[in-house]
Amino acid sequence: MRVYCKCGNVISTTQCPNDVELRVYTDKEFDGIINMDINDPLDIPRPNQDVLICPECKRIYVYNHGYGPPIAVYKLEEWSGESYFDITEEGSVSKKEL
Ligand SMILES: [Zn+2]
Repeated sequence: MRVYCKCGNVISTTQCPNDVELRVYTDKEFDGIINMDINDPLDIPRPNQDVLICPECKRIYVYNHGYGPPIAVYKLEEWSGESYFDITEEGSVSKKEL
């Protein structure tokens, strides 16, 4: 699979293994895998969606299995890393400084 990223980079999955294909499971999917009788790691089912990351710009492309346009594209947001928001056990939101 070759994907032309919006940044101009070509994301290729022709090498195996590679650093662009991500295995992203929901917690329910992963729970189902844990409960399977799997002896060979190659028998682990693929996630329901294919996820690729552009090594240049870090955009994330999400596909349903097979070919076709991505169902979602995520662009990395700039973040200073100096503060973040946290939710307390009581449910209130507070800003934390690093
Ligand atoms: Zn890119």
